[in-house]
This record gives sequence, structure tokens and C-alpha cells, in this order.
Amino acid sequence: MRSYSLIAPAKINLYLEIIGSRPDGYHELAMIMQSIDLADQIDLHPASTEAIRVYCNHPQVPTDKSNLAYRAAELMANQFPGAFSNFGGIDITVKKRIPVAAGLAGGSTNAAAVLVGIDLLWNLGLTKSELEELGASLGSDVPFCIAGGTVIATGRGEQLAPLPSLNHIHLVLAKYRSLEVSTPWAYQTYRQEFANTYVKNTEDLAARANAVHSGEIVKAILDKDAAKISQKLHNDLEKVVLPAYPKVLQLRELFASQEGVIGTMMSGSGPSVFAIVESKAQAEVVKQQIRTAIPDEDLELFVTQTIANGIQILQETGDR
Ligand code: ATP
Repeated sequence: MRSYSLIAPAKINLYLEIIGSRPDGYHELAMIMQSIDLADQIDLHPASTEAIRVYCNHPQVPTDKSNLAYRAAELMANQFPGAFSNFGGIDITVKKRIPVAAGLAGGSTNAAAVLVGIDLLWNLGLTKSELEELGASLGSDVPFCIAGGTVIATGRGEQLAPLPSLNHIHLVLAKYRSLEVSTPWAYQTYRQEFANTYVKNTEDLAARANAVHSGEIVKAILDKDAAKISQKLHNDLEKVVLPAYPKVLQLRELFASQEGVIGTMMSGSGPSVFAIVESKAQAEVVKQQIRTAIPDEDLELFVTQTIANGIQILQETGDR
């Protein structure tokens, strides 16, 4: 029997615009998602029992049925009962490096890795779009996490159109360990405060197109112009998260005032904040400056960079 180790990268949002409410209760969004090289490792081992079990080294991550990696495996077992009874259960080990509840799609990328890994383990031969469709039933960010790279996502975030990949844009990423922002809270609060700005009928294509302002950042991405991209970063959720979380606002302002930082933004529903810098050496300098300004051990800092891919196979062991 084979085993797989997979790399599951985090994402940041270079752009997040809330367009309106959808009939299904979700928000209509325009987002630019970007994979980064900060990643978890997911190991999949066939188990001797019929069970799906999750192990994780991070105290904030549940290992029961609420874990998104578990839910991804359960989905595959339900969709492919013949393969499940043929191959048996799976032990899933999550080596967590991505900060949890950070707006970095940590859970979603774990689920994406499990879908990709089980497809290989059970020889299902699913296409990328079949995997994406399965992923969409687990969470809006899961389809993106499968192939990753640089993508414009619309709908509730599950309709994906690839953009040219932005390799090697250097970043510093910061997250207070003890701060968590609930994604549903961020969207609900935004709805309470800004529903008057929403496009009323999101099925009206012209009205929707008029409300989207991502044209300039998309052009900057097509030009691979990191300085322009840095100027055009945008995240509507900052309007509700920054006033409610003064430490995140302070971090955001501190990044903006650092020499060498060409752009900064909160990712997703936060509370992680990233800064774009010109080189890896510059990223190390900025990281050190932030550490000196905020010597709080609760603040995690990472030097990372954009990458052009989502889930990758790290290792395959055993017989085919
Ligand atoms: P997104 O950017 O997609 O909104 P996030 O980065 O804000 O996601 P996650 O790290 O996915 O958030 O965690 C959200 C919650 O999901 C956590 O509170 C955690 O308890 C739970 N969770 C379930 N499964 C996982 C997993 N495999 N990894 C991390 N968190 C998980």
C-alpha cells in the first residue's frame, strides 16, 4: 500500500471586494488569491481499520470530525464507497505551520491536500475541475487551494480564473498567536454596516461588473509589476476588522511606516497582516524591525514569498 506526503501552501488575498448578497445567503465577492510558500505538511497513510483518523501537532486544531481534513476524507469515502471499502481507512497527520484562524486558508488547504492525496491513493484519476467541485462543497477557499498560484475568484470565491503567476514576491507576514477572527463574524459585521452599498441584484451582470474595481491590480499583475500591485492592494474586511482589533491596526500602521515596505494589507478576514518588500534580505530587515518595535512573543513573524502552485506531492512511498 502506498503513502503520500503533501505540501499544502497558505494563501493571502491581494484583493478582496464585497459586491453584494447572493440569493444563497453568501456574499458575492471579487478576490485575488495568491499562494505563498508558508505551508503545512499532510501525511496520508492507509490504516488497518475502516476509520478516518486525524493527528495534529497544534493545540488549536481539532482532530475530530470538525477538522476540515477529516471532512475532506469523509466526503471522498461517501463519494467513492467502493474505493473506501477496497482500500480501507486513512490516518491523516497534519504538521501545522500555517497560523490558525488567520485568514490564510489553513484549514482549506489541508482539505485540498486530502482530496488530492486520496485521489492518488485510491487511483481515482479525478480531473482538476472534479477535485475543485468536490472542494467547493467543503468551503469557498478549497477549490483555489488545489491548484493555487495567482487566481481571480468570483461568486462566493469558488469560481476561479487563473492570472499569470507571481513568483518570488517577497513578504513579511505577522499574526498574533492569541488573536483569532471568526470569518462569519467579519462578513456578518460588514453586512450590518455596509449593506446599503451592496449591489441589490447580483445576478444583474452589468450592475455586478460596474461594482468591481479590480481592473488596475489585475493590470499590474499582468505586467508583473510588484510596485504597482503593492499600491493597489485592497481588502474591504479591513473596514470592520481593524476598528475592532486595535493590535491588528497598530501592526498594519507599523508595517506601512517601515522603510522598504512597498505595500501592506490584512489577509482575508484577518488577523494576519502581510507586507510586500523588494528582496528576501529586505524582508529579514523588516521582520527584525517589527520584532524590535513589538517585542511581544505572542506575535509570530514569517519571511515568505509568493509561489505559483497549490498542493504538491512531497513524497510517495510503497507499491503502486
Ligand atoms: P480562511 O482564510 O479560509 O477563512 P482561516 O485561515 O481564517 O481560513 P483556519 O486556519 O482554516 O482559518 O481555521 C479556522 C477554524 O477552523 C479554526 O478555529 C480551527 O479550529 C478549525 N479547523 C478545522 N480544521 C482545521 C485544520 N485542518 N487546520 C486549521 N484549522 C482547522
